[in-house]
Order: sequence, then C-alpha cells, then structure tokens
Amino acid sequence: MDRVQIPGYVKAVLSGLADAGYEAYAVGGCVRDSIIGRRPADWDVASAAPAERVMEIFPRTVPTGIKYGTVTVLIGRRRVEVTTFRKDSDYSDSRRPDTVEFISELHEDLMRRDFTINAMAMTADGEIIDHTDGRGDVRRRLIRTVGDPDSRFGEDALRMFRAVRFSAQLGFEIEKNTLDAIFRLSGTAKELSRERVRIELQKTLLSPRPERAVLMADTGLLDAFVSSRGRPGGQSRLSEVGSEGLYRMCAFSALLLRRGALERADQLAANLGMSVKNCRLITDACAAAPEMPSDMEEQRFFVIEHGEELSKLAAAAAVGMGRPGSYETMMSTVRWHDYIMPEELPVRGRDASRAGFKGPEIREIMVRLCKEVAAGTLELERRTLTVRMREIKRNGF
Ligand code: ATP
Ligand code: MG
Repeated sequence: MDRVQIPGYVKAVLSGLADAGYEAYAVGGCVRDSIIGRRPADWDVASAAPAERVMEIFPRTVPTGIKYGTVTVLIGRRRVEVTTFRKDSDYSDSRRPDTVEFISELHEDLMRRDFTINAMAMTADGEIIDHTDGRGDVRRRLIRTVGDPDSRFGEDALRMFRAVRFSAQLGFEIEKNTLDAIFRLSGTAKELSRERVRIELQKTLLSPRPERAVLMADTGLLDAFVSSRGRPGGQSRLSEVGSEGLYRMCAFSALLLRRGALERADQLAANLGMSVKNCRLITDACAAAPEMPSDMEEQRFFVIEHGEELSKLAAAAAVGMGRPGSYETMMSTVRWHDYIMPEELPVRGRDASRAGFKGPEIREIMVRLCKEVAAGTLELERRTLTVRMREIKRNGF
C-alpha cells in the first residue's frame, strides 16, 4: 500500500508548517502502523522548522523536549509531537546523543532511526517516503536495524530491547543479522537505567505475544537483572494470563524461577525497581502457586486461605510454571464466588477469642469455618458457627 489516510488534526499540523515554508512529514511509528493496518498510538511529525518557529506558528504548544528540538502542538484535544529534522552524533553513554545537530534533511533524520519499519515518512497526502525498504520488511514481517546492527546497537543499547518489544507487539521476527548482534552486544544493556528496561519489558509482557519476553533472557539482555540465563525451554503460554502488568510480570518471574534464572521469585522485579509491595506479592504468589489445585471445587479452599488477589496472582504464576489453564479456572472460581471469605462470616475475631482462640489461631479458625461452609458441611448461621468454634477448640484443629 502506498497511500494511507492521515487524520485531520495531523494534516492541520503538516499544512501549518508547509504554509510557513517548512518541509514536514508524519514519521516513525505512525507510518509503520498505518501501513500495517494497525491504529497508531500517536502521530509524530518531523519538520525543517526549528522548535522556536513551531511555537510561533501554532497558538497552543508545549516545549516538551526543546533540547532535542521537540515541541508538542495541541490541536483541539489532540496532541502532535513536532521534532526538527536531526542527526544524532557521538553516543558516549550508550544512550543519549552528546550533541544534536539540526539539519534540514529528511533523509538523515530517517537514517538515525532504529529499525527500517520505523524509518519511513509520509506526506500530507499519504505518500510514503522509504529509503531503507521499510515496506519490504513490513511485508516480510521483519525487524531489521537501519544500517549495521552492531554500530546501531553500540550507539544505543535500548534499541535491542525495542527490537524484542516490537517483535512481540507486531508479531514480526527479528532479522538474523540483527538478532545475532543482539546476542553479541547484550552485555552493554547493563548501562541502561532500570526504568527504561522495565518499560520495554512491560510493553513486551503486555503485548499479544508476552512469551517473546523470554528472548530478553535468552539473548542475555536481562543478565544484569537476573542471576543467570537459566535453562532454556519449557515455553509457557503467558498470553493466557490477563493483560495486566503485575499478573504478566508474576507469570514471567515464575517462568524464570522454574528455569533457574532467578535466585528469588522477586529478583527481577526488585532489580527493575518495582515497589516493595509488588515484589512481596510476586514472592507470595510464586510460593503459593505449586500448592494451587487445578479443580474449581478445590480452588475455593485455596481462595479462602489466600484471598482473591493473591489467588489470581498465584494462578498467573502457575501458568508461568507450566500449568496452562490455571489462570482461566481461577478467574472463573473467583467470578463465580461460591464461597464466603473469613471477613464475611457472621462471627468475628472477637467471637473466636471469646471461644478461647489466640493470635494466629484466630485467622486459622475463621478460615476453617469458611472451608466447612464452602464444603457444605456447616450452616452459615451465627449460632451454629459459634457452637462449631467451641467444638473445634475442645477437640483441636
Ligand atoms: P510506539 O509509540 O507505538 O511504542 P514508536 O515506533 O512510535 O512506537 P517511539 O518510542 O514513540 O516508538 O518512537 C518514535 C520513533 O522514533 C520510532 O518509530 C523511531 O523512528 C524513533 N526512535 C525512537 N526511539 C529510538 C531509538 N532509541 N533509536 C532510534 N530511533 C528511535
Ligand atoms: Mg510513538
């Protein structure tokens, strides 16, 4: 396809710039997505206009990245990032260009981009400018660096994570030379900030192909954040797990744990800077997962004991540990809700202490009552429950 539709507000930005005498194009991800037939998340524009001029041309702008020549233009409730054509030079910290040289040339601006599929531009009437055969790679469904992969990854190590992330989001393969270079240069990923790595990993895990995150471990990209690459193999269907960050992260951690790549379940999460609370949940879920029954009838007892949130996370971990179907059944168990939780009983903790239970025993007796109610052997009635509590106190658990 050579021509694609550009939304009106983007056209307004392109023509505003053109009317002021500046070359301007839609570029990058939006062009790629339009060609693939995917809905672009946002539209970026590259133009010959310096940032200060962009701010003069449009009435509502935000200087979001003036240093890099980026201004956000507001049109109605929409926003478009406009960046001056640029050529990056000298990367010394494997991440940020030291100097940004402004040039009025689309070609060089496209050549500094990471992958051929991301290095295309589009005019206001939808004509595609493609100097690196990005369209060919879209057809072949390949992620390929613009130019020599070793030098492009040497300039910016984050691109290696982006390669895996795009392959997961788009379902494209990573072209052989590009993939080989990732294996060779994965060690340089240790220079990246953990926040950037976490964002790429999470985008990968939240994509339709979360399994591809395993490639981040296999190539060594995660070496700085795990204890070893672990044993390869044993693919898990992480996509079965609900598309929510913590669930997928929990399943992925469980998978790495099973492969022997982690010393502790929350090692990757902690090294990527996830909160103490979430690390705790991942640890508890991975510890509980092996005990999780697969049968819905039995799962109710597990939920009563562990609570709904942790049970769902444990089910996600079980998928990561190679037990397909656990997440789906657990979600049905919780949705169906054919059980009562300790906090919902018509007897309270103080009734338990009156019956003689102390400390952790109080929770234990409440859980026990809930299980008996769920099993159908005990009536959900205050007096019956109190009698049963006393009876257990006398006879022991
Ligand atoms: P999406 O926004 O859907 O995640 P995208 O392709 O728009 O995908 P962005 O991170 O928004 O990705 O970047 C916009 C464009 O800028 C990319 O398409 C690419 O051309 C270029 N780009 C972004 N990051 C880099 C990088 N690290 N190295 C080289 N070019 C990059
Ligand atoms: Mg984008």
